[in-house]
Amino acid sequence: MKTLRNYVHGTVHEADSGFVPLVDPCSEETIAQVSSAGVDFRKALEHARTAGHAALNEMTIGQRAELLGAMAKALHEHRDELIALSLRNTGATRKDAKFDIDGGTFTLSHYKSLGESMGARRFFVDGEGVQLGRSARFSGEHLLLPLSGVAVHINAFNFPVWGFAEKAACAILAGMPVITKPATSTAWVAERCMEIIHEAGALPPGVFSMICGSTGDLLDQLGSQDVLAFTGSASTALKLRSKANMLESNTRVNLEADSLNAAVLAADVEPGSETWGVFVNDVAREISQKTGQKCTAVRRIIVPGERLAEVQDALVERLEAIVTGNPEDASVSMGPLATRQQLDDAIEGVKLLRQDADVVLGTGERIDGVGNPAGKGWFFGPTLLRMRDGAEGKAVQSHEVFGPVSTLIPYDGSAEGAACMGAGGGGSLVTSLYTDDGEFLTRFLVSGGSYQGRLYVGSEKVAPMLPGSGVAMPQVLHGGPGRAGGGEELGGERGLSLYLQRVAVTGDRALIQRAAGLKD
Ligand code: NAP
Repeated sequence: MKTLRNYVHGTVHEADSGFVPLVDPCSEETIAQVSSAGVDFRKALEHARTAGHAALNEMTIGQRAELLGAMAKALHEHRDELIALSLRNTGATRKDAKFDIDGGTFTLSHYKSLGESMGARRFFVDGEGVQLGRSARFSGEHLLLPLSGVAVHINAFNFPVWGFAEKAACAILAGMPVITKPATSTAWVAERCMEIIHEAGALPPGVFSMICGSTGDLLDQLGSQDVLAFTGSASTALKLRSKANMLESNTRVNLEADSLNAAVLAADVEPGSETWGVFVNDVAREISQKTGQKCTAVRRIIVPGERLAEVQDALVERLEAIVTGNPEDASVSMGPLATRQQLDDAIEGVKLLRQDADVVLGTGERIDGVGNPAGKGWFFGPTLLRMRDGAEGKAVQSHEVFGPVSTLIPYDGSAEGAACMGAGGGGSLVTSLYTDDGEFLTRFLVSGGSYQGRLYVGSEKVAPMLPGSGVAMPQVLHGGPGRAGGGEELGGERGLSLYLQRVAVTGDRALIQRAAGLKD
């Protein structure tokens, strides 16, 4: 039996008790075990704060960028092995596994390039210096200095590679050491990544640690110079952000939680048009990719009432073509849900949505998977619901079913009506809006833009270039207001700000600029 290991305080620690089993979501067989019993969390933090910090502090931004490059290279060299492991541990298809692994290495590489472009500089600087005295001699600069604690990263089960990589890229480039914790159910993929990075000698001691299993009393020891970045459910987010020590010391916390993302079809889009085609393709993919276990998946499809029947027909045709089953079978295009709990939650979730909506595709129950023994595996087919006339929509507008499930919702065709429905989710990571009408876009932004972390506009002119609304590109922000957690990640250099303290340094401009490396 494979036992996952913990990489802490410069050692590799294998527990001998307290194990949680990892289960193959197709065969339901136990494939590995996880435990952090015996990890000294105080020592883990201390090692990162001292050795990890010292190493990063000595480096220029360009040198930290090289570390990210080394991580990306090591992972990419093991891409095929990681894909195979992902199939087994998470139930992902090959395509879905590549999405996670390549997303992780691409994000590391993006931040490597960003850091390289800053080269020999040691400090990040916010904006231009400001003159404070009668002459420019007395001036101020806003420097951005890495916090001197540890960045603790807690990740969700759905992106075992991308999840840790995007957070680590920002923290390490900013100059903060990281302790990362993957979600237990899919931790084998993340732990293998850690092992690969460790074996490649890609990072100095203390810069990157990993805890597999419980975080013990780690979070109880975080203080004012530490950071907690969390991705997962809203209920866990609330529990973690409420810890007394973090509230008392104002520990920085960034939350990425669940989200009822919407796809909105504007009234100008005619069936058969290029924009219509992009809308149908995007929505079908965003429902089924990674079996709907994506924070950015489309949960609500907001459509002018008069187009509802045509949209339903187009989506049913696309979703019916999806083959749900064991990813080892070449005909399969969608794998199982990752855990028994996820399956139970999806079944219960559809029951809840039925308060407002009728199922137009799917059963709302577990199904047998193609290429897999009958009765085994956590398979759940693509499921489309349609909101009933006159339904209040309370469940549809508040409950995220973390699976291949989405609900068609009619609106009156106005931008204000669409924005109002979009805002009904209480704040989303991403809403996709399909329109070629600039006026509709303006009115949508004015009426409900602030409820979105990202607005992805699908239109005819950019149709061939669109990556899909679910792709969190490192150049632009990932995060959303309200129920999406209120956090912000990525967005190029913006993603580093969580780990940096803005310090106003005032005095002799020449002295400050020389010290900060802004002038020779
Ligand atoms: P979860 O149950 O909240 O778990 C998330 C992480 O928190 C896991 O690593 C989990 O570890 C850890 N955790 C749970 N309780 C903890 C505690 N008391 N102390 C320390 N760590 C604790 O969420 P999930 O089921 O993995 O993920 C699904 C949810 O994540 C969905 O709601 C989805 O929308 C959301 N999500 C959001 C984003 C985003 O960017 N906004 C991205 C992906 C997913 P264990 O696994 O060991 O319990």
